[in-house]
Amino acid sequence: MPEPLLEVENLSVSYLTDTADIRAVEKVNLSVQAGEFLGIVGESGCGKSTLLFAIAQLLSPPAEVTSGRVVFRGQDLVRLTDNELRLVRWRDYSVVMQSAMNALNPMKSIGAQFKDTMRAHERVSANAIRTRSAEVLHLVGIDATHLESYPHQLSGGMRQRAMIAMALLFTPQLVIMDEPTSALDVVAQRSLMTQIKELQQKLGFAVMFVTHDMSVIANYSDRLMVMYAGQVAEIGATRSIFERPLHPYSKGLLDAFPSVRGPRRPLTGIPGSPPDLGRPPTGCRFHPRCSEVMTQCLTTEPELFSVEATEVRCLLYADSAEPAVAR
Ligand code: SF4
Repeated sequence: MPEPLLEVENLSVSYLTDTADIRAVEKVNLSVQAGEFLGIVGESGCGKSTLLFAIAQLLSPPAEVTSGRVVFRGQDLVRLTDNELRLVRWRDYSVVMQSAMNALNPMKSIGAQFKDTMRAHERVSANAIRTRSAEVLHLVGIDATHLESYPHQLSGGMRQRAMIAMALLFTPQLVIMDEPTSALDVVAQRSLMTQIKELQQKLGFAVMFVTHDMSVIANYSDRLMVMYAGQVAEIGATRSIFERPLHPYSKGLLDAFPSVRGPRRPLTGIPGSPPDLGRPPTGCRFHPRCSEVMTQCLTTEPELFSVEATEVRCLLYADSAEPAVAR
């Protein structure tokens, strides 16, 4: 297998407050190949967005990477200075935030914001900026006349597309997306997902896509990582997890969303809510909510086990599987 584009090794992130050390991400290992689409799913408060922000080196206090490495194209981003990061960020990897209305500056036109972004990373002529800005807007299906538009003059779907266009200004190799479709209606959501996938296939960039809604990425991601309480609960091929989820939490997430094509079935949620990460449960962090809980789950912290090509953090597989090798 070729060298991964991104390799996250044992990454932990804490929110360090006067009274608590809230471990939002704990010892996460993952890799992303060039051109791959990795979905990251889990409920709110499971550490998905913190993980993305840590990978993109966009954390701000009190959040802090407490251990681990984020190796992107051979460089450990955690150890780069701000100046070194500026050379990589946005040019080689970029980020699309959850709400374009919050991420875009309401006082500046789309074109002015594209110009600021390009000038922050490269000495480039006004003509070249205009040409490239029109090109990327065209890529996401927006007419170049909207370079003059202000964010409030665009629909929600167009604003998200403009954010994606901004993320593609330098044709990065990795685009990190934090719930970019969550504020859109179902129709706009589907149309945007189709467009992201088409762009990814056309331009060849890799995608890390965070969502709380598994159904959003069912048809788009190559691999899926399910996070629970700051840890990887399960990671494997998307199709395999949808067809045969191994972790009881993955099963619960799948049962919480309706299937468009499959037979009608009653939706069941997962009882309770994710734990306080300042005081996570002993043993398996999912045990207070797990429908398959066993006595040892209350005291034994499960590691990741390899079951065929999937890795799963659950003691149900402890006897039949090998501990997963950290990647
Ligand atoms: Fe459920 Fe136990 Fe597996 Fe945790 S280790 S997910 S409590 S069966």
